[in-house]
Amino acid sequence: MRKKIVAGNWKMNNDLQETETLLDEILATKPEFTTAKIVVAPGFVNLQAAVAKTHNSNIIVAAQNMHQAESGAYTGEVSADMLKGIKVNTVILGHSERRAYFGETNALLAEKVTTALKHNFTVIFCFGEELADRQSSNHFNLVESQIREGLFHIPQAEWNNIVLAYEPVWAIGTGETASPEQAQEMHAFIRNLLKEVSAEVAENTSILYGGSVKPANAKEIFSKPDVDGGLIGGASLKASDFLEIVKGIE
Ligand code: PGA
Repeated sequence: MRKKIVAGNWKMNNDLQETETLLDEILATKPEFTTAKIVVAPGFVNLQAAVAKTHNSNIIVAAQNMHQAESGAYTGEVSADMLKGIKVNTVILGHSERRAYFGETNALLAEKVTTALKHNFTVIFCFGEELADRQSSNHFNLVESQIREGLFHIPQAEWNNIVLAYEPVWAIGTGETASPEQAQEMHAFIRNLLKEVSAEVAENTSILYGGSVKPANAKEIFSKPDVDGGLIGGASLKASDFLEIVKGIE
């Protein structure tokens, strides 16, 4: 059975105090009510505090990025071992902002995925088309190549550490959401593609939707058969909204 997951990508928001306050607010809602996995991804400098706060809870702390090298002369970067050293074992890779602003290519992401899996991380692997791709009906091709080039090198047995997050770029932070039907259509396409890896991988891999998910639309999107949860940006910064979204998955 694949897992239901709601993940909050805090991006470059929240200082230490705000991180602790938001986590206190989330914890106060007793998130144990859900059987879904709840993930939060604060900025690097606040990860350790977030791990300490969420100790003894069902909240999983993730990093938003990671370097592909083991260690060395990569000024400003963070390695798998550094994250593991503070008990962070989940990482978001390939977010569209990393691809667009930091030049992360499918080939680079394939390396990052390899490193992350080698260190037993769970990877939340993001991908999705831009508006122009959808307008020119290239969105299925584009998504297929992002998945093939970023992930198809990994051994079948390691796919249980992969979570996919389909995030159409035109829906991120824009207030414009893919319709539940558009999300389902793409998720079904992705699951079908995963059959090339194996029928089991296709069945068991969680595929999250991301892009302007909010309390008002979460339940309907999550009700689609191939949507296993969400990756939430803006609405994950307010505890009450985030928890409403989590409730939408029940
Ligand atoms: P959004 O961001 O929910 O603010 O659209 C989603 C994401 O970038 O993961």
